[in-house]
Amino acid sequence: MNCPFCSIPEPVLQNELAYGFYDIYPVNKGHMLFIPKRHVDQYFDLTSEERQALDELIFKGKALIDEKFNPDGYNIGINIGEAAGQTIFHVHVHLIPRYKGDMEEPRGGVRGVIPDKRMY
Ligand code: AMP
Ligand code: ZN
Repeated sequence: MNCPFCSIPEPVLQNELAYGFYDIYPVNKGHMLFIPKRHVDQYFDLTSEERQALDELIFKGKALIDEKFNPDGYNIGINIGEAAGQTIFHVHVHLIPRYKGDMEEPRGGVRGVIPDKRMY
């Protein structure tokens, strides 16, 4: 299997079941990804222990990003399935720090997965 996330060279954070590392094509400064150590295609196939391990690392990642980059907000997102935009089929949670002024009108945030529907 040729999975880029099964061989992450230097995770920044880890616990027993999960890793956290910086996205190599960050949407914003400090963009991190969190993955289970086990190769699992999609979020809904994770065990509750893996979900808990990911959640714990997301909070540690948030503390790290706060300290290093001092963002003004965050988006958390998971693409599940090709139709939803997933390109790497090893579950990953995006933690994307947001900065005032990083886009003209941020209202709606993750609703922007369908850009025309972002604002209501
Ligand atoms: P997704 O569209 O949710 O499947 O996103 C995959 C994410 O993985 C994208 O944000 C990529 O920038 C990121 N990515 C791809 N390859 C690597 C890598 N080797 N190390 C870190 N991040 C990666
Ligand atoms: Zn994998």
